[in-house]
Amino acid sequence: MYILVINSGSSSIKYQLFPKHSDQPVCNGLIERIGQTGGRITHEIFKTGAAQTIKLEQSVKDHEAGMQALAGLLTREDIAVIADPAQIGTVGHRVVHGGETLTKPTIITAEVKEKIRALYPLAPLHNPGHIKGIEVAEKLFPSATQIAVFDTAFHQTLPDKAYRYAIPERFYKEDGIRVYGFHGISHQYVAGEAMDWLKNQQAKLITIHLGNGCSMAAVSAGNCIDTSMGLTPLDGLVMGTRSGAIDPSVLLYLQQQKGFTAEQLNELLNKQSGMLALAGYNDMRDISRLYQEGAPAAKLAYELYTYRIKKFIGAYAVALNGLDAIVFTAGVGENDALTRELVCRDMEVLDVRIDIAKNQLREKGLRDLSLEDARTRILVIPTNEELAIARECRTLKDNTHTGA
Ligand code: ADP
Repeated sequence: MYILVINSGSSSIKYQLFPKHSDQPVCNGLIERIGQTGGRITHEIFKTGAAQTIKLEQSVKDHEAGMQALAGLLTREDIAVIADPAQIGTVGHRVVHGGETLTKPTIITAEVKEKIRALYPLAPLHNPGHIKGIEVAEKLFPSATQIAVFDTAFHQTLPDKAYRYAIPERFYKEDGIRVYGFHGISHQYVAGEAMDWLKNQQAKLITIHLGNGCSMAAVSAGNCIDTSMGLTPLDGLVMGTRSGAIDPSVLLYLQQQKGFTAEQLNELLNKQSGMLALAGYNDMRDISRLYQEGAPAAKLAYELYTYRIKKFIGAYAVALNGLDAIVFTAGVGENDALTRELVCRDMEVLDVRIDIAKNQLREKGLRDLSLEDARTRILVIPTNEELAIARECRTLKDNTHTGA
């Protein structure tokens, strides 16, 4: 039997298929531009030694068509990884927002779907795509157990002083306005890997997820005690196209003095800000090239980006009252040596001292970049949200069967 992990977004579906008892996927893939022109499916198979990649340029009308194409690829005779879709015993779904009630991996029922729908106002860009993915998966794999794993769940251990905003309580009670935090599956996964590597399950860690979206978490003995994103994934760090933290009065000013509508403010802060606004690009590879060429805008962008991260490290080291390791992960964190160097420079106060040569090496897997005699470890740990979801599904099913 197999576990299919689905990350269904508004216009894309990412997936990975794992044998029930293995962490090694047999295939993975990405279906892009659903409902738009220029649809594309990339499917990678790892079954026979070297990976084989299939690329299909085809329009994908909707999520149902996308999932059907996926099911077709899994069983297509020349590249089949399974003989029958009924071999998929579990479908694990990444769900961005679980609110305050969906705090653990959960078997999906009609009631659970209702709760995910009720959170649409808090996650309008994400939860509707997840529901589509879930409903199509229920149709295509009717005998499979459908399980939801939530990106907000890891942050539900935050104390109220970290998750409440200093506004009247009714906005929390009636509207659910509080810090939820995101990227939780990734933070939890790399924190777990770091604790195992450090052989210290009590470790005090700061995990730094730097992808298109960027967030940080302060983790003590496996529990998240603070995180940088808030009600939505807009708060905190500077990101590819998002501003991160900004004085709320900027919004009032733009609204009152410049006539911005809510829609325009949303577009400005989510899509036209961050590194794109500062450097003209949102992909760190482009900005890094410009930085090396000496472009002042790229320099400022890097400085702002890394200074914000440094400030959170300072804050979280104090919140944790100690620090065993900082962990870099996701696209930028795993690949961009310049970001890591600028973040870790001038942090002797926390005994964070980076080995510049090690930092430049392009190695795979977990890496320790700190100088040997430094007390605080600087780790790079590749994230693997799909694997984390597959493991959660396994645990939940095992516990369900044993009645635990
Ligand atoms: P997502 O948040 O979509 O999961 P990823 O974790 O895949 O994103 O990160 C994507 C980002 O990682 C890209 O926008 C790019 O800025 C950055 N990135 C990827 N590869 C590299 C690299 N080799 N060097 C620097 N940055 C990279």
